[in-house]
Amino acid sequence: MAGLEVRDVSVRYGASSGSVRGGGSAGVTTAVDQVSLTVAPGEVVALLGPSGCGKSSLLRAVAGLEPLSEGHVVYDGEDLAGVPVHKRRFGLMFQEGQLFPHRDVGRNVAYGLEIQELSRAEREARVTALLDLVGLAGYERRAVPTLSGGEQQRVALARALAPRPRLLLLDEPLSALDRQLRERLAGEVRVALVETGTTAVFVTHDHTEASAVADRVGVMDSGRLLQVAAPGELRAAPASDRVAEFLGLRG
Ligand code: ADP
Repeated sequence: MAGLEVRDVSVRYGASSGSVRGGGSAGVTTAVDQVSLTVAPGEVVALLGPSGCGKSSLLRAVAGLEPLSEGHVVYDGEDLAGVPVHKRRFGLMFQEGQLFPHRDVGRNVAYGLEIQELSRAEREARVTALLDLVGLAGYERRAVPTLSGGEQQRVALARALAPRPRLLLLDEPLSALDRQLRERLAGEVRVALVETGTTAVFVTHDHTEASAVADRVGVMDSGRLLQVAAPGELRAAPASDRVAEFLGLRG
């Protein structure tokens, strides 16, 4: 299958190389519990759930930053076991603090392009197009410390998209921003992902944000994936009270 396949993946902390069964042993946390999920090429999937439910652990496992205790991460049919983080051709974007403060905006965005064989003119054209895409046309020479939090995350998004990752993994990228800005930016992030045809997994604890960003939303609780569906379908037919609660449909 093309795109991402997560097959029966478990992530445990405090276990020695996945040898603990059942996750019930003292000192062992099962952060991700036999999760299976697919993300088709060009699709944006959000992982939604409360703090501590295992969203980041799953994202990090896909990135190759966290070892799997069980299961497989497969991309375009290739099992990525043994493929290190930097060889997966995945992009990562986090909550904050990812920009190089001493590089200007243009050179931040160009960072991932520097190892690619592009002429200077091609590189500059790509930086210009990406800044345009994230609503920061003309910001090339701006210094990072002069940017607002929202502008910094727009630059981080442009930088993450620049090398055309085959999968972009976003971990609560808007959580440090205030609510109003977060809602607006969630829509803009979706436009940027769709316009660039980027396949993405977006982690959030905010159901409004998940619905604004994603084609499908996966609801997680205690390491388990409870339901995955389009936002409208989830709201119309939540599979359980728990799912309804996380969607803000109950008390
Ligand atoms: P979320 O992203 O949904 O907030 P996390 O994946 O960060 O959830 O955490 C899931 C569970 O795993 C939590 O119980 C958390 O305390 C635990 N956990 C996360 N990272 C580690 C770690 N490095 N070592 C031990 N436990 C961890």
